[in-house]
Amino acid sequence: MSNKLNYSMSLAKPDAQSLSVTQKVAVGVGVTGLFILILALLNTDFPNQGWFLILALGLISVGALIFSNSIYLNTSKGIKNDGVWFKSISSRGILGWAIGIVLTLFYIVLYFYPSVLGLAKDGASNTGLIALFDPLSYLLSGRPASQWFVYGTLYTVAILIFGYKFMLKYRHNRYEQIRTGSVMFFQLGFAFLIPEFMYRLNSKIPYYDLKSIWPLNYYNFERYRIDQFIDAGNIGLALLIFSIISIFIITPILTYKYGKRWYCSWVCGCGALAETVGDPFRQLSDKRKSAWKIERWLIHSVLVFVIVMTTAVIYSYLGKDTSKYWLTRDVFLVLVAGFLTLIFALTIIFKRKELGKDARYGAIGFFAVILGLIGLHYFSTDTKLFFLKSETLRTSYGFLIGSIFSGVIGTGFYPIFGSRVWCRFGCPMAAILGFQQRMLSKFRITTNGGQCISCGNCSTYCEMGIDVRAYAQKGENIVRSSCVGCGICSAVCPRGVLKLENGSLEGRINPNEILLGNDVNLMNLVNKN
Ligand code: SF4
Ligand code: SF4
Repeated sequence: MSNKLNYSMSLAKPDAQSLSVTQKVAVGVGVTGLFILILALLNTDFPNQGWFLILALGLISVGALIFSNSIYLNTSKGIKNDGVWFKSISSRGILGWAIGIVLTLFYIVLYFYPSVLGLAKDGASNTGLIALFDPLSYLLSGRPASQWFVYGTLYTVAILIFGYKFMLKYRHNRYEQIRTGSVMFFQLGFAFLIPEFMYRLNSKIPYYDLKSIWPLNYYNFERYRIDQFIDAGNIGLALLIFSIISIFIITPILTYKYGKRWYCSWVCGCGALAETVGDPFRQLSDKRKSAWKIERWLIHSVLVFVIVMTTAVIYSYLGKDTSKYWLTRDVFLVLVAGFLTLIFALTIIFKRKELGKDARYGAIGFFAVILGLIGLHYFSTDTKLFFLKSETLRTSYGFLIGSIFSGVIGTGFYPIFGSRVWCRFGCPMAAILGFQQRMLSKFRITTNGGQCISCGNCSTYCEMGIDVRAYAQKGENIVRSSCVGCGICSAVCPRGVLKLENGSLEGRINPNEILLGNDVNLMNLVNKN
């Protein structure tokens, strides 16, 4: 008998499983592929880069596929999260921290030191890792690779192979299978292949991921982008119009019908990575009430910032002369302020009850934006916004939100904070969709409270840190702005308590109709009565 100390309380499966021989071989195959990429990074001169790239990505993919098959296909269908709190990688152990640090370093190099990866300067040829991807880039778009092409390729390959693993793991659940197929399709087609082909057809078209919608692509309305769209002719103009339609028409309609899940869990690339590569880390999301509080402050501050910033950027290239243009700077500010005031007023008039305590947050956010717009009017010149060069303001935003938050912390810290840190705390798109989901959407998760055995699986595996069990115990519908509709709470529930629905708004059991343990101190209430 083994003398190994057994920490598990499980009678059925006392030990965390160690790797089988097949799994060890699969890891070896995958690591060999990674090793080729590392050799390229160290400037190894491969005789035929194209074949070595295929070999590297092929070995990584084959290793991951054999590993996934070996874990899931030899067992019956159903959730397999065995030992998740005992494995170093998925419980913030040494391996988890090591991967977190390596990923973070990779992001820092990618964003701030691309020359380390081999990016050429001043017309020279690429070297190192980026040169390894040159043949693929020439094949797709006819131009040399950049650090973003390398990143895009690795990102897409990661979503495809981990998406396959995810589909095997949740193969008892049709919703998870179709949803994962959808994110794999959108990443491969819309984010990776189509922009490359578009460049081949018309090299003036700026890189445009058709599924990336403002405010996620916060840079979309900057002067240089607008100039690029216009220079590209009719197709550029069509893309510009599409980007506006997707904000004001497509997004609200789909969110009304299906909730924010149509985007966050079915289309978005950040969500796709979180759901596939990030799946082993979903239990690490912070469920504390304090985290919920930080989440609300942080995500809404980012939203206020992005609205003021985008307004400022558009404002900076509009004219002032009313005899030449109808859309002058001041008219634009009045239009933005009027639009936001209308939304705020309608929400307060018709949805005051649903907002509850959050009306205060809404009011603070609204007045912060209005103050920002007034500040823009009084403290901006032709070249400066709020006393700062518009370029400085833009690059600071790109640095803080676009690079540090969404890349370094959002993905690099998967093994430490869980897989949806960016979506939960920093994504302005998630904030807008969440607001609509809470106020005006048919989507909710219904709970059959009588069946709940309070096992807590749902709360444990909710990547957005929602205490799903608290709702289930009361039989209350879950209508939370942060819920991305991933459906995992429902998939892991052993009692079939939770159901994702797009029913009518009528008959929803909303939080203000029920005592929420989080919001109410029950002893105070009892003493008062
Ligand atoms: S509540 Fe359920 S569906 Fe919503 S994010 Fe959490 S696990 Fe996903
Ligand atoms: S997983 Fe199901 S049974 Fe367990 S606490 Fe959640 S709703 Fe209740």
